[in-house]
Amino acid sequence: MTLQRDTILHIGFDDTDSLQGSCTTHLATIIIEEIDAQVTFLDYPRLIRNNPNIPWKTRGNGAIGFTIKTPEEEVDQVIVTIKKSIESYYQPDENTNPGLVVVKGNIPEIIKEFSKRALIEVLSIEEAKDIATNHCFDHYFIGNGRGLIGGLAAIGNNLNPRNEDFTYEILTYRIPDNYGTKRRLEEETVYEMDNKLSPEVFNNIDEETNKILICPAGPDPVFYGIRGEEADKLLEASSIVKPKEPLDNYCIFRTNQGTDQHFNYADNQVENFRVFKGIIQITKKPQVLLGGHIILQGKIEHSEKLVDLAAFEPSKGFKKKINKLLPNDRILAYGGIKYKKELKIHTIQLEKCEILTISDHYKESSPYCPKCSKRMTSAGRNKGHKCKKCGFKDSNTQKIKTKIERKIDIELLIPPAQAQRHLVKPHRRYTVKRKERVKFVENWWKKYTNL
Ligand code: ATP
Repeated sequence: MTLQRDTILHIGFDDTDSLQGSCTTHLATIIIEEIDAQVTFLDYPRLIRNNPNIPWKTRGNGAIGFTIKTPEEEVDQVIVTIKKSIESYYQPDENTNPGLVVVKGNIPEIIKEFSKRALIEVLSIEEAKDIATNHCFDHYFIGNGRGLIGGLAAIGNNLNPRNEDFTYEILTYRIPDNYGTKRRLEEETVYEMDNKLSPEVFNNIDEETNKILICPAGPDPVFYGIRGEEADKLLEASSIVKPKEPLDNYCIFRTNQGTDQHFNYADNQVENFRVFKGIIQITKKPQVLLGGHIILQGKIEHSEKLVDLAAFEPSKGFKKKINKLLPNDRILAYGGIKYKKELKIHTIQLEKCEILTISDHYKESSPYCPKCSKRMTSAGRNKGHKCKKCGFKDSNTQKIKTKIERKIDIELLIPPAQAQRHLVKPHRRYTVKRKERVKFVENWWKKYTNL
């Protein structure tokens, strides 16, 4: 009898979809279906969200990572199957550049480091190609190879429970006949599910508008995605939500969504498209722009660099509170940086914000007339005040200073669910206990009819 030797493979891929259709998570589900008989999954497929500010992303800058075990003699076949699936699935488009990376055994430190930087920086295709060539068992790309960046990042960012927070998402997929049509489900079952399972599930309903958020709007194959703390709860959630159209399949992903992972590695460096975290002192009052966006100016503590800060219209209550900031208030700002060439200034697009210090502000007004109680007016520079009504005059009077009541608190501000970016940790998760291990459930992927 010959003993079969198993090999551990880490597989990462990205950039297979375009706005015209498809989705890299859907491709992951197809690949899982194809290789499941040949391999053992040692982890859920990971859906890793990288730097949300890079301009060439399709939607949420998500990449996929697998950790699997397979007999040594099957390795080549598994890789060929995945390459073929990518080739036949990807949407040719000038902005679609699929990349696949395969690591055997331990994940090299250089890939782990790269994955941390992928959360906050803009990385180059050259660096990704170099790492893929020198530190990976195999790699493959179409087009300019940009997908290798996300592929490497999804391998390196393995969401080890010892040092990283993580969540899950169950994604269900439509049958191809329904792609592009309006998604139909029994809406009340979504509210029912959220009421029953919250806070084990999150971001299904917008807390300010009560709008259902689980269904995307585009032509992609996703029917709905439900986010939560544990996979078993997501299966339960999915059994409560009733679709009004036949579905194809589903898969549960382990993910860094809702964890603030990017902010854990961010700092106050100012570079176009980088993730920013730093203390800012407000220098100019907010302005409301056309479209309802709020813009204000501040300087970064320590560097003294001036930046703009922006809060966008869909962030509703968040934006309203940002609009109450005044010069000398201090905030810990979290967001993405965009450089505005025309204005020669960097703008931090706020994803969340902690108000640290609320400064005192005063309004000055003329004193009241001691004779007739009418408010007096200035008698000229350093000449005191005079009363227009009774003619009283006093050259020694000073302006009265009254403290303005600031309708703002020291607090953490996070936009409501509908305006939140994937990586941002929602309020609801702040009270959830950190998971110590990955709990595997049976049926973490299946044809939908088996649910
Ligand atoms: P979807 O969420 O629908 O799967 P997407 O928003 O993930 O789509 P992609 O089409 O995958 O967008 O495009 C993102 C591209 O950016 C990929 O090629 C990915 O490798 C690359 N990328 C990811 N992170 C970085 C980074 N930090 N620096 C540079 N490029 C990056």
